[in-house]
Amino acid sequence: MSKKLLKNAYVLISADDDVEKMNILIDKDEIEDLIPVEITNKREQGIENVEEFDLSGKLIVPGFINAHTHSVMSYFRGLADDVSIDDWLFKYMFPREDLLESEMAYYGAMVSILEMISNGITTFVDMYMFTDSVAKAAYDLGIRAYISRGLSYDTPEGWKKRLNENIGTYEKYNGLDDRIYIGFGPHAPYTVPIDKLKEVAKLAKKYQTHVQIHLLESTNEKQLYNLIDIENTGLFEVPTISAHCVYADEKDIEVLSRSEVNVAYNPTSNMKLGNGIAPIVKMLEKGINVTFGTDGSASNNSLNLFSEMKIGAILQKYKYGPDKFHVEEILRMAWENGGFALEEKLGRLEPGFKADLVVLDINSLEFFPNDLSKLKSHIVYSVNPKNVYASMAAGKWLYFDGKFLTLKEGEEKIYEQFYNYYKTLENKHNSLNFSSNYNTNDNCR
Ligand SMILES: [Zn+2]
Repeated sequence: MSKKLLKNAYVLISADDDVEKMNILIDKDEIEDLIPVEITNKREQGIENVEEFDLSGKLIVPGFINAHTHSVMSYFRGLADDVSIDDWLFKYMFPREDLLESEMAYYGAMVSILEMISNGITTFVDMYMFTDSVAKAAYDLGIRAYISRGLSYDTPEGWKKRLNENIGTYEKYNGLDDRIYIGFGPHAPYTVPIDKLKEVAKLAKKYQTHVQIHLLESTNEKQLYNLIDIENTGLFEVPTISAHCVYADEKDIEVLSRSEVNVAYNPTSNMKLGNGIAPIVKMLEKGINVTFGTDGSASNNSLNLFSEMKIGAILQKYKYGPDKFHVEEILRMAWENGGFALEEKLGRLEPGFKADLVVLDINSLEFFPNDLSKLKSHIVYSVNPKNVYASMAAGKWLYFDGKFLTLKEGEEKIYEQFYNYYKTLENKHNSLNFSSNYNTNDNCR
């Protein structure tokens, strides 16, 4: 059956609508129609081959879009909770990342994607190595994904190798199932020189794809480059998501605004690594399209947009005043602004939009009083992942009533493989660390 009818639920079409009771008709991967409950019965007679789901007592909202993460980093959750961003990256992450292999990466991504699906995230934007593994995991689990190879420059050979991997994944996976898209991921202006950023801009234009980059994340970066120089590489002439922008000053905001660069706000990661609060209210005032990202599990440590919305909102209110940053703006950032950044009909439940949605249980305590006029506020400030009843991407249920429906292997097997690879990584790291300390009295990097 290619059609699905989600019946008797309350529906929030978009951040700016009111909650109403209606039925949603889905054809393949798209929303075909929204039908007021009272007239469904009459219209239903004309609908054949439809699978029905009674969702009484539930609220259907657009699927959440995680606009910045590194899914393989699930292995490094809890590894470096109390260190500076430089130590986090150079002492803890890089040495372990050197030991990763492609099958490990697949299971790391699988665990993160399962976490995201059960937390109501139906699209994620990923930057990492092993893009074939990440793309395969996303393909296997049915989530929508925009994936880039993290690109940094060391030697001409190393650069070429990474670019070729990025292009290889593009050729293999881009457009698959109309939900896996491959872009380019220059890591940051302090790891990729200007002429190489120009090369990436040209490639992104040639392949007509998106770019992801980390920009102005930490205070040190402010001295290392000027955003106008990055703009002059042509990188902002293609759809670009820039993660963080914590240290964007007024001039930088002007550049981001005129170049229509999309920004991913990652409040938990920014605070946990001690970087600070991005000027999101100022960016929104200048018309910048701002989205939410979780960043990876090694710096957040959970892939959960409910907590990003709440923490992100509280920080903006602290910085700019409690009358700023309304619930509608916050929900727009988590939904349709992500769709806008990705140039896809996502983040609204309208006919013609992709059937990516989340079903929340409004009989949970976190939703009380479950008065319809209060539900949007509850989603931002009270609801948490345990209130997610189901998630759907591209018209397919990925998660329903506590079960993962797209898993081919058993859940236990995935967790066992993940844990075995986690132990392998730790053992390898410890043995290298020991021998290098023993021989050279140097640290493991
Ligand atoms: Zn990141």
